[in-house]
Amino acid sequence: MYREDFIKDEEIFKLLEEGKKASKDEIRDIISKSLSKERLEPIETAKLLQVEDEILIEEIFEAAKKLKEEIYGNRIVFFAPLYIGNKCINNCVYCGFRRDNKAIVRKTLTKEELIEQVKILEGKGHKRLILVYGEHPDYDGDFIAETMKIVYSTKNGNGEIRRVNINAAPLDVEDYRKLKDAGIGTFQIFQETYHHDTYKKLHPNGDRKSDFAWRLYGLDRAMEAGIDDVGIGALFGLFDWKYEVMGLLMHAIHLEEAFGVGPHTISVPRIEPALNTDYPQEGKYLVSDEDFKKLVAIIRLSVPYTGLILTARESAEIRREVLPLGVSQIDAGSRIGIGGYEEEDYIPDKEQFQLGDMRSLDSVINELSKEGYITSFCTACYRSGRTGEDFMSVAKPGLIQDFCIPNAILTFKEYLLDYATEATVESGNKIIEEELEKLERIDPKLRSIVEEKLRLVEAGQRDLYL
Ligand code: SAM
Ligand code: SF4
Repeated sequence: MYREDFIKDEEIFKLLEEGKKASKDEIRDIISKSLSKERLEPIETAKLLQVEDEILIEEIFEAAKKLKEEIYGNRIVFFAPLYIGNKCINNCVYCGFRRDNKAIVRKTLTKEELIEQVKILEGKGHKRLILVYGEHPDYDGDFIAETMKIVYSTKNGNGEIRRVNINAAPLDVEDYRKLKDAGIGTFQIFQETYHHDTYKKLHPNGDRKSDFAWRLYGLDRAMEAGIDDVGIGALFGLFDWKYEVMGLLMHAIHLEEAFGVGPHTISVPRIEPALNTDYPQEGKYLVSDEDFKKLVAIIRLSVPYTGLILTARESAEIRREVLPLGVSQIDAGSRIGIGGYEEEDYIPDKEQFQLGDMRSLDSVINELSKEGYITSFCTACYRSGRTGEDFMSVAKPGLIQDFCIPNAILTFKEYLLDYATEATVESGNKIIEEELEKLERIDPKLRSIVEEKLRLVEAGQRDLYL
């Protein structure tokens, strides 16, 4: 079906070569274009990727921070991953769940176990989940839709899941429609690597996953089925990181051109050690912390309006450093072993790889509050129909703050009332007060609307949003 695809390896290499010739003035012009909130062209991103000059790199970091502040404010959206099943028919060499890995215990959550896991997550304050699946005939559209429905209908006191995102193998249009009907938020597919030869090497011939184009166009099919929030990503460490950033940008542009709207999010997983899996230790393309910071900042500058997700694969220290460079969503308190939310620690024989940040949701929120970030569990956009192109029309003029900050305040207040420790209540309420003062300066009427709703939340109402 897709004989030729929109990722042209030679063209990317050529752009990266061309990028090396950029002058300092050109780089500064590109940074200014990005600060005017325009999406960059591939050659411009290629030029940023080739910057070696320390002063210019610092300017890229500063610009990324400024852009994040202007578009997203100091808001961080929290979610948690929930692994549903680790059976897999593929043999991706870097993944602990690969078919031939006999050290892994195969397990799919039963309905009762799924309910139990969701209740634990709700009991900690989560409102947004991403459900994760291996690729297996058991995990088809009907099964995924069924698990989504179970998640949405599971309640625990005031706890409920209001947005379910999915990370699973690419589906066909008919199966995507089932997920759309079950109320999916975002469907995520990571291309792993955009470099055709590397993709071929890491995904053995004959495996379902060896079909590069089926995966590459997986989100086109999701869009065709009416799922208009889609997430892309590359697994950094498989091939040259500069090439992968170009691939992500090409993918974003393709979706923009084909559907009038780019991806809702970009994920930047770095490869992690996995049980009985040598590949990560051998990879010559492993990305250093310094390069990782650069790639996050350059993605931020290249696609100003696309959310950026940084997972708990990364250590607490790296997350602290990278967050200000453009990240808008993180997970916390995550456990990725199947059934892992009952355990306190690792369960290596049921995990896909090892997490770097095992802190609890509450301790991450407390730390971020003290650093001036406001936590958000908001799910309003997707439930008010502000997705895809509609989301962009809200996002583009910089109105994120008008909706997102008030909704962050309201959902954070719920968290503080229902789940937070005393220390987090203190740091969190301080941030809410600061945010209300900021709102007052921008729009006093908006402040009183939010304060009115806050009173209702304090009186026991839940799920209020603009
Ligand atoms: N099995 C489906 C697939 O491959 O599309 C669903 C996603 S898989 C469970 C989730 C993602 O984990 C993969 O797309 C890959 O990017 C990432 N992953 C695999 N092995 C990893 C590792 N060793 N370290 C970090 N991330 C890894
Ligand atoms: Fe299976 Fe996905 Fe792991 Fe590949 S990355 S082995 S498809 S779970």
